[in-house]
Amino acid sequence: MAYSEYWNPKNETLPREELQALQLLKLGRMCDWAYANSPFHHRKFDEAGFMPEQLKALDDIRRIPFMTREEWMHSIMETPMFGDVVATAETNAIRYHLTSGTSGRTPIRVLDGMKDWEWIAEMWCYGLWGFGIRPEDITYFAFGYGSFIGFWGAHYGVEKIGSLVIPGGAQTSEGRIKQIIEMGVTTVFSTPTYALTLWQKAREMGIDLARESKVNKVICSGEPAGSIPAVKRQLEEAWGAKCGDTAGMTELGTIMIFECSHQPGGTHIIEDHFIEEVLSPDGDEPVGYGELGERVVTSFGRGFIPAIRYRTKDMVMKVPASTCSCGRTWDLYDGGIRGRWDDMKLIRGTNVYPRAVEAIVREYPAIDEFQIYIWHKDDLVDEIDIKLEIKPGLEAEWPELQHKLAKDLASAHEGLRFNIVRMEHGYLPRFELKAKRLVDARPARNVRKALACIWQATNDLDLQFEQLYELGV
Ligand SMILES: [Zn+2]
Repeated sequence: MAYSEYWNPKNETLPREELQALQLLKLGRMCDWAYANSPFHHRKFDEAGFMPEQLKALDDIRRIPFMTREEWMHSIMETPMFGDVVATAETNAIRYHLTSGTSGRTPIRVLDGMKDWEWIAEMWCYGLWGFGIRPEDITYFAFGYGSFIGFWGAHYGVEKIGSLVIPGGAQTSEGRIKQIIEMGVTTVFSTPTYALTLWQKAREMGIDLARESKVNKVICSGEPAGSIPAVKRQLEEAWGAKCGDTAGMTELGTIMIFECSHQPGGTHIIEDHFIEEVLSPDGDEPVGYGELGERVVTSFGRGFIPAIRYRTKDMVMKVPASTCSCGRTWDLYDGGIRGRWDDMKLIRGTNVYPRAVEAIVREYPAIDEFQIYIWHKDDLVDEIDIKLEIKPGLEAEWPELQHKLAKDLASAHEGLRFNIVRMEHGYLPRFELKAKRLVDARPARNVRKALACIWQATNDLDLQFEQLYELGV
């Protein structure tokens, strides 16, 4: 059967003037809904002197006040359990989820109704169909199915497309690999990090996934690495499959961007359901195509918790739809989400972004796992170490790699010195959900932070105790 390339052929190829007219209409409706039903938005609109009827052109979006994570958190604390941001009776909810709490932040609690969930699945369908998932596919979710929203929406999206879903919930990596082969799985959903871990495990089991599995698509989400070229290349080689990136947020319940099957090196924005503004970080000036800025998102689909001009702190670079050859009229984020503005570390006067470091480290296939470790030498100087493990069998590459990696990192960071440190194989932690490869061990503000650093630094319990003892905790 001949399928269309698009999930929604009309909206995905809508001329941009019509697309913008649709966005304006939906924006007005969302603001009306939020103003009438969410005390949080009502208060904020009043304070800013904004009324939904002021929206005459798309540019008028700039009259709407921003919504920040801090305000949302504050609302949850003032009005437990979910905050007065909620726009309908809590008894209408059918599902509760939490943000992942990455970077040690308190997770946000969210509720959704049935209609929200239908929309959440629909958004995933755009991305999954766009990357080539069809009813004939057999899909596998290497995902724990917990309170973190993760791939829940993708699960329903795949069902809606009509493919077979195999929910690979709580089980070992070995168990998952066996199931993937046994069931003839064609599409695997995973974080990029865990997809690499699965491949390593398979190798230890004597299984070559590229040859012995039927997997031809790996769909990534949850970490920015799915759009880092070197990671993508490794995944595609390891699995013998095409690797596609998607990105979503618990705050929205679903994905807002996806990579199409043309793999243009970026992700299309689902522009008939979201307005994605790119603004100067912490400012409110729009930045143009090809410039780095902060994503500010407005969603039209989630009625329970309206997200309007939500400041994400995600670092992105928008490029026009014509960058991709697929015919969609939707703009893209070149390189997907490039990390977070608040991930930046200042080391001896130089800005260091973990994702930029990862992009360089991943150019070395001999590196198995790594960690960016920042510490304070003699209470004076900041030092940055790249702790890494070499893949078994490739140890001979170490001396040259050590020298070359240090040079590559320095030249990308105004000559900043990176110490390249080799660790025993198995020393560094492995991740299933969201990888935490940055440890900032500079003088801890409190014991809790010190404990978190030690816990992140190594898997080894004895070493953890040793470090606790040294710190006098
Ligand atoms: Zn495309």
